[in-house]
Amino acid sequence: MPDRWTWRPGQSDQCGLSGIGIAARYSANVGIVFAARVRYELRRMKTPPPHDSPCPPAKTAVALRRRLLAWYADRRRDLPWRRTSDPYRIWVSEVMLQQTQVATVIPYYERFIASFPDLATLARADRQTVLKHWEGLGYYRRAHHLHQATRELMAAGKERVPDRREVFRSLPGVGDYIANAVMSIAYEAPLAVVDGNVKRVLARLCGLTTAVNHPAAHREYQAVADTLLDRRHPGNYNQALMELGALVCTPRHPECGTCPWQTACFAHRNGVVADYPRRIRKAPIPEHAMVAGIVGHRNRLLIVQRPAEGLLAGLWEFPGGRREGGQSAKAACRAILNQTTGLSVSVQRHITRVNHAYTHFKIVVDLFLCRKDKGRVRLQGPTAFRWIRPDELQDFPFTGVHKKTFAKLSPDMLRLRTRRT
Ligand code: SF4
Repeated sequence: MPDRWTWRPGQSDQCGLSGIGIAARYSANVGIVFAARVRYELRRMKTPPPHDSPCPPAKTAVALRRRLLAWYADRRRDLPWRRTSDPYRIWVSEVMLQQTQVATVIPYYERFIASFPDLATLARADRQTVLKHWEGLGYYRRAHHLHQATRELMAAGKERVPDRREVFRSLPGVGDYIANAVMSIAYEAPLAVVDGNVKRVLARLCGLTTAVNHPAAHREYQAVADTLLDRRHPGNYNQALMELGALVCTPRHPECGTCPWQTACFAHRNGVVADYPRRIRKAPIPEHAMVAGIVGHRNRLLIVQRPAEGLLAGLWEFPGGRREGGQSAKAACRAILNQTTGLSVSVQRHITRVNHAYTHFKIVVDLFLCRKDKGRVRLQGPTAFRWIRPDELQDFPFTGVHKKTFAKLSPDMLRLRTRRT
């Protein structure tokens, strides 16, 4: 591989020649050429070896920082969490932004901050209210952890976000990324962040060949990010680098022509932008068939709550479960509802089919309208249940997939179809 930082196409990368070789090659004008070549070789001997580290040399890094910060001052988006220096609000925004796009986060962030403007208010809130504010944002474990972390801080008599990384890092849900992001943006701590955007930019800038989703990648990318970090303006620098990845150095169509780093960028200079970042191809994620039932009884619907731990913890949904092969969806719905709720139900009609993707698997849910025939609710799996009116659906934090079905449910349909015929 050519030296990342000094090599240019067409530039000689030959080692020095011996005096005899030089003399033989340039025999036409031996004296002049030989003297010139000797001077050249002597100069080369004093020159440090090519810089082949993945990190740019110090002089280049200074220029990169300066250009990036100037670009950020000009191009940064006006986002609600950039209008505050409150460490709590910055923390909330960083938690929400993990795995989630900025446009999706903005209304959630604004609603959340309006209801829980400070750490103490969030700590005092009940879990269901917090989940209701997170409903639809996904990755609900983030909300549980954030809530739990504020409670732990309040229990320790702290109403402010800790300004020491090791204290903050020990809280639930605070990993290296959140710790470095909040400490640098809120307190100007000299800590570099590494997220998906940053990895992509660094892979292209420095020609890093380690796959970004390889288990060993994080340490390598963090080391490069640490070297490049602007220690005088770590908060702005980190935000600028993430912004560059979000707006310019995008996954599919990077706008190298407007990039402040284009003259230094390894991938751009060598015309290999599409080859970076490297990624290990993963096996396709499995898809599971699920069924769920809206059980009607006296104009009320049955909803159940998921356990407090695990996937979608504490959220509400219509009772149901995973369908095994060989069983019709209708038969599976009847059997699974009987098993999980203890009720005997009649499956009346198919309402809708919805698809939903999680990180490691996808699901296809067939939703049926059912009628309670007999029995009392005895839960197996869910931890709580309610018989609610259709207009009370909005009062509970629901799983994303079941929330998708709401559009298919009209009060009229529910009232008519659940009647005994
Ligand atoms: Fe990304 Fe292109 Fe900029 Fe390189 S020049 S960092 S590939 S946008």
